[in-house]
Amino acid sequence: MRFKFTDFHVHTRGWSVDVAEDGPTFEDYIKAAEEHQINVCFLDHYELYYIENDKANPFYGGKIDDYLEEIDKFKETYDFILSGLEVEYYEDKEIQLLELMDDYRKEFDFIGGSIHEWIIGYPITTKEGLTSLLEKKPIKQIIDEYFKVSEKLINSNIFKNICHIDTIFRYINNNDLKPTDDCDVSDNRIINLGRLCIKNRIKIELNLSGLKFPINRTFPSLHVASQLKNEGGEFFVGSDSHSIEYFEKQIPEVKKAYNFLNTIKKNKLI
Ligand SMILES: [Zn+2]
Ligand SMILES: [Zn+2]
Repeated sequence: MRFKFTDFHVHTRGWSVDVAEDGPTFEDYIKAAEEHQINVCFLDHYELYYIENDKANPFYGGKIDDYLEEIDKFKETYDFILSGLEVEYYEDKEIQLLELMDDYRKEFDFIGGSIHEWIIGYPITTKEGLTSLLEKKPIKQIIDEYFKVSEKLINSNIFKNICHIDTIFRYINNNDLKPTDDCDVSDNRIINLGRLCIKNRIKIELNLSGLKFPINRTFPSLHVASQLKNEGGEFFVGSDSHSIEYFEKQIPEVKKAYNFLNTIKKNKLI
C-alpha cells in the first residue's frame, strides 16, 4: 500500500444498492484517494439472502467474480486500493457463509462481517426499516435481539473483521428515537461485544458513519474504542462512504482516528 492510512469501508455505485444512481464509481474513489493520499478498500454489500432471491441484486448469479475482476484490474495500475466485501451475517446461513469464505477469503484483500437486518425486510440501519420493526416489537426487544445476533456473529468465527459493532444505536439514541427506561444501552454492553472480538482475534471497525446522524459519534464511540484498544483490541477505520463528497470530507477524520487509536497502547499490566 502506498499511503500510511487506509479507509477500509467505501460503497460504490452499481455494486451497493444503497448508493445513488449518480453515486461514486471505483474511478471516482481512486481519483480522490490519490489526491488526498489515503489507501481505499472497496467494501460493497454482499447480502446472501438478496443475492439468492433478487435478480436485481448486483451480485445475483455469480457476479462476485466480475466485481473482483474489475477491482483487480484497477489494482494493476494503482497500488493504494484493496478489494473487499461487507458481508451480511445471517444466523441461518452460517454454512453458506463459511463456504463463501472458503471460496473467496484468499481472492479478496479484506472481508468484514456485519449486521443490518436479522429479520428480512426490517433493516435497523434505515429509519423506515427500524420504524416498521418498532411497530412489531418493543424497542427493548429489538436492542436485545441485536446484541444476541451480534454475539452469534462474533462467536461463529466466520469473519476476521467486524464492521460497526453497535450500529443498532444509529437511530436509537437520545438525539433521535429515544430508548425506553427498560433498555440496556450501556457502554458496557458494547465493550462486552468488543471483548468477545478480542477473545476471538477479530478486528473491530471504528466506523465514522455515525458522524452524519444526530448521534454524532463513531461506532463504537471513541471512549469504548479506547477501552477496547487498551484491552488489546485491534482496529481498522472505515468512513462507510456512499458518496464522494462524504468520502473526501471524512479523509482527515479517518487519519485523525488512526492517530487517536495509535496513542492508546495495550495495558501490559493487566
Ligand atoms: Zn454496514
Ligand atoms: Zn457499509
